[in-house]
Amino acid sequence: MKKIKNCEICDSKNLKHFRDLGRVGKPGEYGKLSICICFVCGHRFLNPRKSDNFFKKYYTKKYRKIAFGSFKPSNFYIKEQYKRSCGVMKYFKPKLKKGNFLDHGCASGATMLPWKETGWNVFGIDPHLPSVITGNNQFKLDIKHAFGEKMPFKKNFFETIMSLGSLEHSYDINKSLKEIYRVLKKKGKLIIRWRVDKIKGSPFEYYNHNHFRYFTKKTWRNILIKHGFKIKMFVSKKLEKYNTYSYILAQKENTSKKLIYDKNLYNELIIKNKIHDTNYLSFYNEFSKIKKINYDKLNKILKKYKKTNLNNHKEISFKRNILELTSFKKIRNKLNLNNASR
Ligand SMILES: [Zn+2]
Repeated sequence: MKKIKNCEICDSKNLKHFRDLGRVGKPGEYGKLSICICFVCGHRFLNPRKSDNFFKKYYTKKYRKIAFGSFKPSNFYIKEQYKRSCGVMKYFKPKLKKGNFLDHGCASGATMLPWKETGWNVFGIDPHLPSVITGNNQFKLDIKHAFGEKMPFKKNFFETIMSLGSLEHSYDINKSLKEIYRVLKKKGKLIIRWRVDKIKGSPFEYYNHNHFRYFTKKTWRNILIKHGFKIKMFVSKKLEKYNTYSYILAQKENTSKKLIYDKNLYNELIIKNKIHDTNYLSFYNEFSKIKKINYDKLNKILKKYKKTNLNNHKEISFKRNILELTSFKKIRNKLNLNNASR
């Protein structure tokens, strides 16, 4: 394990314990997950972490198998990715200049297809080799097997780079953003999809071992400014029909601005963290009183506790919620003990 001594964003050594429970394996597998928070800028990240080399191997081979149960992406997954990318493209297209396009962390590249079909010159990178091979063979795409920390492209090459969640997974986000800056053209655009910090599902899923950092708008602003980007807009529309996602459109600039630290963010996030856990506990308690759970009953209590409803892929969402709730049962006592001892 590698202990990170300085904040990823502001470099401060003033890091404090934030929480220690979250998902450590597949969905519903909960346990000790050590997350710290920076007292200066309020950035939260996984710490300690496994070594860079571990992640290189992990993402090359294991990731998709663990996440999706097989090495080859299913047809369902491919169709979903295609549809979702269409939603993103439709919204951002009028704000972009057509040209070279990079899908940063593209998997097998289904998200690249809508862009290719509308005349963009598309490229992809992904660390997962089987996905790269599938994308290159099945969809005839140009996907490089590479990590975001070192990309096989010339500088000032891309008009647009799209990152659908990849930056929360990257093992060195500073190197990754430096590389994005390098390969983007002057005034080139960066589209980022990230997970909103208003937790709509279980906090024990939100805080998990393969998302290394947990952003807010303020921490995004600082890390992007630090690397020479200007935020054009935050977009909270449901471009992929999921209300747990949010988007940023950023632009490569020449000058860098000063970072602004909100001193209240630290306290605000610590308080919110407790609220999220107690809210989930109350939600669980109400669920556990129901003798025979069904779709309508679950949806009713989801609504009451302001959780994501079951609209997208009803059956999958229903099963996932039940899995999360029954898994939570096993660790709920740990949560109580932790709260009582503080
Ligand atoms: Zn910091």
